[in-house]
Amino acid sequence: MGLLDRAGARLTSHPEEAEILIVNTCSFIDTAKQESVDTILEMARHKTSGSAKRLIVAGCLVERYRDEIQKSIPEVDAVVGTGELEAILAAAGLAAPAAAPSLFNILSGSDHTPSDSDHARIRPGQESRAATHKAEMAASRAEGDLRERQGRFRRDDWRGATHLLPTYLYDESTPRFLTTPKSSAYIKIAEGCDHPCTFCVIPNLRGKFRSRRFESVVAEARQLVARGVQEITLIGQDTTCYGEDLGLKDGLATLLDALAGIEGLRWLRFLYAYPNRITTRLLETIAKHDNICKYLDVPLQHASPDLLKRMKRGAGADIFLKTLEKVRAAVPGIALRTSFIVGFPGESLRDFELLEEFIGEAKFDWLGVFNYSDEEGSGAFSLDAKVPKRTIEARKRRLMKLQQSISKSAKQQWVGRELVLLAEGESDETPLLWEGRTQFHAPEIDGKVYINDFGDLEALEPGRFYNAEITEAHEYDVVARVASGPL
Ligand code: SF4
Repeated sequence: MGLLDRAGARLTSHPEEAEILIVNTCSFIDTAKQESVDTILEMARHKTSGSAKRLIVAGCLVERYRDEIQKSIPEVDAVVGTGELEAILAAAGLAAPAAAPSLFNILSGSDHTPSDSDHARIRPGQESRAATHKAEMAASRAEGDLRERQGRFRRDDWRGATHLLPTYLYDESTPRFLTTPKSSAYIKIAEGCDHPCTFCVIPNLRGKFRSRRFESVVAEARQLVARGVQEITLIGQDTTCYGEDLGLKDGLATLLDALAGIEGLRWLRFLYAYPNRITTRLLETIAKHDNICKYLDVPLQHASPDLLKRMKRGAGADIFLKTLEKVRAAVPGIALRTSFIVGFPGESLRDFELLEEFIGEAKFDWLGVFNYSDEEGSGAFSLDAKVPKRTIEARKRRLMKLQQSISKSAKQQWVGRELVLLAEGESDETPLLWEGRTQFHAPEIDGKVYINDFGDLEALEPGRFYNAEITEAHEYDVVARVASGPL
């Protein structure tokens, strides 16, 4: 969006107004693929009946079904994979390929390796970006190289996918168009993943793990804060691996240290920690800085050692409980989020009960449960003992019910506490309530804080911070009264 905006496109979220429709897709599980395809078909109808002249499909669905998309949905004019972001301009017709060449393959279904000739087509002024891009691609982790030799990133099972893995990384000079509320922004610090988790095709889609340069992330964070951003959430498929390919030791902790020093940055957090990479140094860093949210998102996926072994993740309930104990001791009051998969092939009733017992003991603040999705190209696709869909649904319901009661009693403990709240705006449900978040709520995924009393204030301002007292607790959400502010 930043590239399109800079090229002069006027962005709209109303498809009936658009001349160019762009669907950014996801394809890591069944429901995501379905949602992506439904949206493409919906936009194709706009193209046939409305003012749109061009339909572009971008993102992970393209990495997986590049040829198929264009063959089966003829309304699609162009596809742009995750490794060829800059090709969006030519795809949108905003830059003629000859006048403004892209570093990346555009539109076609053919395999394409960026060649010397691609680099020869780079315009003056683009050299430094190309050099940066090359430099950033130079290193990779030994683990990633090994997994590549073992076939971890193969796409042979995907008809119509290019064999070329994406290597793209944006940097601080890449224009961004923020769609998040003005006080918050995400920064992607790394791309790809080298882990062997057998249920997951994200590495096949996103490529080998690669970190953005340290200075690039810090520069981007400074730019965002200068634009009024006060909350930054660091993301990547595995944020806790950050910097390993750059030769950094404790890369994420070092990065957090540097970012926490940026004046004006009020909340800083990272998502998607890998369980065995939560180091003492990382925890000390979270504890040390007031502006690092006391929040840890660590997807555990399961708790049965047997099943975790089949998932090629390792560990189990006992090890995880020790980790959680260490985390809570190092950062008192920290909010913990995790997610689990139910119905992985071979999940016996005993495996499931182990997971249930673990959830009862671990007492997470936030918890997500995903149904296993059988994905071609994943290690688990060929495993036997698939669990019936009905059983998967029933197990998911059982876990959510359990978590509901855990969450309800945990939220009761919040009543009477005064917390710093980021006011986000009127609630979607009713204009009588406002919504906000504390440091214990990551944007978009966790429960909500409803504000039903502004205290002495006439009005609240979205994107400002206030002191608020929690007055009521529900299963996942709480209600608050503003005590003072804005801060
Ligand atoms: S660590 Fe996450 S992204 Fe990487 S393979 Fe495992 S589940 Fe997939």
